[in-house]
Amino acid sequence: MRAPSPYGVAFEHAPLVRYVAEAAYKAGARLVDVFWGDEQMELIRFAHAPRDSFAEFPKWKLAIPLEYAEHGDAILTISATDPSLLSGQDPELVNTYQDTVWKEMNPYLKHGSSNSMNWCVISAARLSWAKKMFPKLTAEKALAKQWQTIFKMCRVDADDPVAAWKDHIRNLQTRSKYLNQKQYSALHYTAPGTDLTLGLPKGHHWASAREVAKNGIEFTANLPTEETFTMADRTRADGIVTSTKTLNYSGTLIEGIVVRFENGRVVESHASKNESALRKMIATDEGSARLGEIAIVPHSSPISKSGLMFHNTLFDENASCHIALGRAYKFNMQGGLELTDEEFAARGGNQSLIHVDFMIGSDKMDIDGITSDGRAEPVLRKGEWAFSV
Ligand code: ZN
Ligand code: ZN
Repeated sequence: MRAPSPYGVAFEHAPLVRYVAEAAYKAGARLVDVFWGDEQMELIRFAHAPRDSFAEFPKWKLAIPLEYAEHGDAILTISATDPSLLSGQDPELVNTYQDTVWKEMNPYLKHGSSNSMNWCVISAARLSWAKKMFPKLTAEKALAKQWQTIFKMCRVDADDPVAAWKDHIRNLQTRSKYLNQKQYSALHYTAPGTDLTLGLPKGHHWASAREVAKNGIEFTANLPTEETFTMADRTRADGIVTSTKTLNYSGTLIEGIVVRFENGRVVESHASKNESALRKMIATDEGSARLGEIAIVPHSSPISKSGLMFHNTLFDENASCHIALGRAYKFNMQGGLELTDEEFAARGGNQSLIHVDFMIGSDKMDIDGITSDGRAEPVLRKGEWAFSV
């Protein structure tokens, strides 16, 4: 699950933004407002701003989206950042900058993770990103190819895309319904480099593709989406897990992650590339060393089959089973939206400034569901669903 972004939409997406605004008014919206953001401005800041100024943050950037979220207004995020925007910058500064954005925007982001409003994250092609995905093509061809790819992953190329989505949502929801009835006490993961047991709290709720916001509106939070996901118990994760894809942590590419958990907490962490960025991320706060999300994605998902590396979590997390360090979603617990932060934490819900998904799935991954009386039942075999519904 990709949460609403704390960054604004790129100017090069203005044509798309205008289409969306028109469609929103036609659907009955009373006011459509846009938060623009310019990545080049970030690079200019990194090049010229005083080195001790990276914890500065303009307060209005929080105030306005926060007001909208408090009203329960719909929020649409276009997730399409340049994956290596900050890769050449001083990691200390990048860390301060990112920490500041997530900390300052936290009151708004919390509304996303508790479904105060209906929200959706989509994507759109852009040159800087397309060139990373298709480096051998000319700029023009890379951009066209990226649009085609996004359409394909989002089922826009189906004869009847809306019917295809309804079908897909129904399928995902049957899986979550089955897992919700099972109420496993834990999941046991095995794969090369992975032997991990993750506790599931009592009353955990498997979600997929469709949620109901506090304002009563049903919504699909991510396009595309292939995952069935729930919350982890923040105090129960034990064992070792190895990532199977590169993690793009706000512009820094972290590779070959191996993490060991004890009693829910990361006690050891390694990466073959950008290990210090991984360690800093884990050290963000108390909750960033614990898990917030557990997601199951079959290895045969269209995004996985494409074999492409998107360098964007909205796509990459839908190619693979994943777990997220940091914040849990309150809607992943029955009645969770009504709980205070303290009550949620007491039931195993993790809280943190971050929520970072990393990919652990492959065609070699098996998952067993562990029942409350300790029996193991197959959930996933060789990366595919192992139960029929
Ligand atoms: Zn997530
Ligand atoms: Zn997810």
